[in-house]
Amino acid sequence: MDPSHPRAPASQEDLQADVVVVGAGGAGLAAAIEARAAGASVWVLEKGDAPGGSTALSVGSLTCTGTRLQRAAGIEDEPLAHWEDMAAFDGPLLERDNRALARVLCEEIPATFAWLEARGLRFAGPFAEPPHRHARMHNVMPNSRAFAYHLERAARRAGARFALRARALRLLQRDGRIAGVVFEQDGRERVARAARGVVLASGDFTNSPECKRRFMGEAAARVPGVNPLATGDGQRMAEGLGAVVLHGDLALGPELRFAPPGAGSWVRRLPPSPLLGAGMAWALRTLPASWIRPFIVRFIATALAPSLEMFELGALLVDARGHAVTAPGAQLAAALAEGEAGSGFIVLDQATAKLFRGPPHAVSTAPGIAYAYLDDYARIRPRIHFEADSVAGLAAACGMSAAALQAALGTRGQGRGFIALGPVRPVFVHSEGGLAVDPEHRVLDRQARPLPGLYAAGSVGQGGLLLKGHGHHLAWAFVSGRRAGRNAALAAGGTAGGAGSARGHAADG
Ligand SMILES: Cc1cc2nc3c(=O)[nH]c(=O)nc-3n(C[C@H](O)[C@H](O)[C@H](O)COP(=O)(O)OP(=O)(O)OC[C@H]3O[C@@H](n4cnc5c(N)ncnc54)[C@H](O)[C@@H]3O)c2cc1C
Repeated sequence: MDPSHPRAPASQEDLQADVVVVGAGGAGLAAAIEARAAGASVWVLEKGDAPGGSTALSVGSLTCTGTRLQRAAGIEDEPLAHWEDMAAFDGPLLERDNRALARVLCEEIPATFAWLEARGLRFAGPFAEPPHRHARMHNVMPNSRAFAYHLERAARRAGARFALRARALRLLQRDGRIAGVVFEQDGRERVARAARGVVLASGDFTNSPECKRRFMGEAAARVPGVNPLATGDGQRMAEGLGAVVLHGDLALGPELRFAPPGAGSWVRRLPPSPLLGAGMAWALRTLPASWIRPFIVRFIATALAPSLEMFELGALLVDARGHAVTAPGAQLAAALAEGEAGSGFIVLDQATAKLFRGPPHAVSTAPGIAYAYLDDYARIRPRIHFEADSVAGLAAACGMSAAALQAALGTRGQGRGFIALGPVRPVFVHSEGGLAVDPEHRVLDRQARPLPGLYAAGSVGQGGLLLKGHGHHLAWAFVSGRRAGRNAALAAGGTAGGAGSARGHAADG
């Protein structure tokens, strides 16, 4: 009998636990810790070499009320005000938002923020981001790798077990319940049986051409996502059992991003120590901005998107061969993706370049925190900053056709002094298409009935919730992960397992 058949007897090769979590990003790690805290045995399946996911690639901003840092800054704030302000970010999409889940997010994030701090995470802030009425954005220090580092440690200490390089393939159903997951590890198919529930925490589908084609169209399918492992596996597995994806058409992207430096940014290489994190948060709060700026600007020039204001004020996007890419600013990335070249350069003549050498116009920015100008790019990112006296010189430096670049610039190409920034490539940062869930994070079928035993958290369990502005995606990952893990642990049991009974023989990473 096929070992993944629901009726197949449990084999020595099977993993068994009360709760099986698929994915070890922010949501999955939070789910594992809370399921253990509720007394359940837990296996976490992670298809990457290590926990992290998009959570560990993120900028690390988390938006929250009622924090220690808000109080220290003299800010009196509360979840209801946060919930009201979230609606102000939605604009015309407000009618599509799942305001019940937004309520869960706003009410639960204060306790979850304190929970993260108790596990060693350190934040700077709060920073302002209108239309939030108060400063609410907190940034993890020293970088977002700290989330995976501290939460994996906490999960292992609590007794959760991890199978790494273990890719969930499909869900097992038994007697009308989701009873486990078939996964692939070392080229073999294996089974993780779940007595109480499965928590899908497998992220978004920014790197699934198939999902993007289905929900957003052919052009989007050609644009890669920042996270190569974000392939919508959870959405696909659950849809196969009757679940529904909401807001598949919404995403952050395509947007333009500079090629990352070979060795990764300086900030990302910092070790995720609480002491260093607290020191950096203190420095940000206390030291004069002019002392701090050089460090923050490094981060901004490495991790953030170029401002579309450049194109409004005269910069030109050309493809890697030098041909002009023309579209309204917000659609330039999509237009670049449609061409053959796939990447391109931002070209500025002398007059335009002058505007971006200092305030008020920046090449990229973390709003309200710091701004990076052209000279910062020349210093910090010399490999993506090209300068030449003539169009031909610039084309040669960037490997473009001089004739194509000359044609793209037209009369502006007759002057002297040109700058190119690049390569830039179009990417999706995150997609919003998650499974329909109820406020208990149970996955719903087309008739809005829960699929017994199946929970979803983070991006795969976004349930039609809009997370606009900064810092709401991470907030949702941690809040929904904790709740889904706890709810799965406390669900009426099925068959195998039993509290504290995790056993199995997977390569425990
Ligand atoms: C560059 C970037 C910057 C961002 N900055 C911010 C920010 O500052 N603030 C903010 O709020 N949001 C930000 N986001 C969005 C945010 O990071 C994500 O929405 C959030 O981390 C999602 O968490 P998650 O746990 O749902 O998914 P993830 O963190 O992606 O975790 C999913 C995990 O599941 C694993 N997985 C996937 N499929 C399988 C499978 N079949 N079997 C086993 N494992 C599987 C993946 O490998 C991954 O480890 C950013 C995203 C990016 C890419």
